[in-house]
Amino acid sequence: MEPLPRETSPHERRSNKEGPAELVVALVGNPNSGKSTIFNNLTGARQQVGNWPGVTVERKEGHLLSDGKLVRVVDLPGTYSLGAYSEDEAITRRYLLTEKPALVINIVDGTNLERNLYLTVQLLEMGANVLLALNMYDELQARQISVAVDRLSQLLGIPVIPTVATRGQGLPELIRAAWAAGGQKKEPLVINYGPEIEAEITALTKMMEGIPELKGSWAHRWLAVKLLEGDTALLTALAPNPRRLPPAWEALLAQRAEAIKRLERVFGEDLDAQFADRRYGFIGGLVREVVKRRPSAEERLSLSDKIDQVVTNRFLGIPLFLLAMWGVFQFTFKLGDPLVGWVEAFFEWFGGIVGSGLEGAGAPEIVRSLFVDGIIGGVGSVLVFLPPIFLLFFALSLLEGSGYMARAAYIMDRFMHTLGLHGKSFIPLLIGVGCNVPAVMATRTLENKQDRLLTILIAPLMSCTARLPIYVLFAGAFFSANQGLVIFSLYLLGLILAILMGVVFKALFFRGTTSHFVMELPPYRVPTFRGTLLHMWDRGGSFLRKAGTIIFSAVVLIWVLSNLPWGVEYASQESWLGRIGTFLAPLFKPAGFGSWEAAVALVLGILAKEVVVGTFGVIYGVQEAGLTEVIQQHWTPLSAYAFMAMSLIYIPCIATIATIKRETNSWAWTGLAVGYSLALGWLVGVLIYQVGRLLGYA
Ligand code: GDP
Ligand code: MG
Repeated sequence: MEPLPRETSPHERRSNKEGPAELVVALVGNPNSGKSTIFNNLTGARQQVGNWPGVTVERKEGHLLSDGKLVRVVDLPGTYSLGAYSEDEAITRRYLLTEKPALVINIVDGTNLERNLYLTVQLLEMGANVLLALNMYDELQARQISVAVDRLSQLLGIPVIPTVATRGQGLPELIRAAWAAGGQKKEPLVINYGPEIEAEITALTKMMEGIPELKGSWAHRWLAVKLLEGDTALLTALAPNPRRLPPAWEALLAQRAEAIKRLERVFGEDLDAQFADRRYGFIGGLVREVVKRRPSAEERLSLSDKIDQVVTNRFLGIPLFLLAMWGVFQFTFKLGDPLVGWVEAFFEWFGGIVGSGLEGAGAPEIVRSLFVDGIIGGVGSVLVFLPPIFLLFFALSLLEGSGYMARAAYIMDRFMHTLGLHGKSFIPLLIGVGCNVPAVMATRTLENKQDRLLTILIAPLMSCTARLPIYVLFAGAFFSANQGLVIFSLYLLGLILAILMGVVFKALFFRGTTSHFVMELPPYRVPTFRGTLLHMWDRGGSFLRKAGTIIFSAVVLIWVLSNLPWGVEYASQESWLGRIGTFLAPLFKPAGFGSWEAAVALVLGILAKEVVVGTFGVIYGVQEAGLTEVIQQHWTPLSAYAFMAMSLIYIPCIATIATIKRETNSWAWTGLAVGYSLALGWLVGVLIYQVGRLLGYA
């Protein structure tokens, strides 16, 4: 490599048309990763040494000529992170932010992969165009540690070149790869920081879209993450005039302060650790996939590793996951059942008081009926299921806080991948246990459009909280001894159908390979009581809010339809409600529930699935017996199970349909989601009932 004159020749200028004639490359890496060795080897004597502006930190720049083209190399100070805590960090970050080099060569000490990749992950989150030099490769070989370089490259989505800087090995390949990769635009890496933090990230990025100066700047998501990590210096570094921020920027900072306040309420002191934990979780998953080492006798496994050996075991993983879920449902219903009885008694008492109070005040019968039969009967019949819902979320939050849920996703990823489905689909499915709306939105973490559409189609099959009241009511009426098990079976049915339909849709519409991804495995933790309660409240609270709004309105609508046409007996077959039900009932006869009440409950359940129970509350509320006894009179165990399955599968609720439409931006896909689920629900209901009858059940 010859030293190069400062003037480039006309020939080189012309080569501009075929591609960049000059490539600016920044060397970034942890201290002692071998940066200077690579820099010296590449640039030899062609170096200029100066200082970074304003500080005494040395600035080294050099160049080399390869294939007649110029590569300018900048050796940035060694750093572990991209924060602004130390001068070295700040310089590196400022250079990357403002100079935007065409390529960042990230030099990584292969013998310290976990720690070194922390910086890599941040570079990728930022959206930098990164080329990885896996240095100290000789040391890796000497220690008999093998790194699957291709797999690492595939999982990170960037080229990876093994190098031994001290011997110059791999450096020609590095330069060749640099030319190939230089100037590319990279999709930033997305690390999932959990629902609470993700919500704040979404809000902040939305605000950033409205700030013209941030257009075309670094990944907004990364800026938002940095802001939430407490790094405001970053924003001032990007501002046109750091001393006087425009109002939109001030608003962004105010929003950040609010967001941090909210997050601290959930995570407390742990908020900072969340970000590092999730990144290390990602890295842990990555290293697990690519590094194979001969375990030496003195190398002891950490407790977390030991637990993982069992929990994520190829054969034990799925049975243990099912066992954990079974435990969750046992806990929920063994504890929740008596509580449901108490809340039920409360609403009965409350209805009685309001009824006699209204009578005493001389209110007309119709008003008494609206309040007692309609509102208290309807909304109350749904609200009695608050205890199991909160208990379920309590148990799930515990599992999540302990780090187990991430393992569940890891296990299911492996399983789903063998079926040709994207493992990341499982995360939206898990979220679907709470509510299908955020589940559909969570598919945004799937980069591939086909994987995403597929997951949107199957996510509504996951049994959300709104279905739970239906199960508790029917399982309580017919399977009270095995309530937890029966309800668990319905959740499992949803999951199995989701995976089956995934395979079907994949074969029908989305043939091709699925991309790879890294499962994040955060360390196991003892969940904090406070955090668990807050998570529970966060999710269960939406059920309460729905009871106050949509379910309330639906119940009033049902009450009105039960009273019309004027003069008809309340909630009789002659009422409009009865007529709608009677018209549709024959459809459901083969599934064992051909009553007009069931038909009407299913139709109105499209508004929100809680309304299914609410409808029964309004219609049956007038009868002397409690809801459970009335159900026992109208259903059999078999038809009850078929009805629960149907309620699980048929048409997602309106809110989910609207979200599917928004996320797919297509009526065709939305129509398919509605249509197939209706057909599938009916089919499964009929199958259960007919097969059950053949087997001699009633
Ligand atoms: P910097 O702090 O990132 O600039 O790292 P240096 O270039 O100063 O290297 C740190 C130490 O690692 C030096 O002693 C190098 O000789 C050594 N080193 C660099 N690359 C390699 C390599 O690929 N293999 C081995 N065995 N040692 C290396
Ligand atoms: Mg150095």
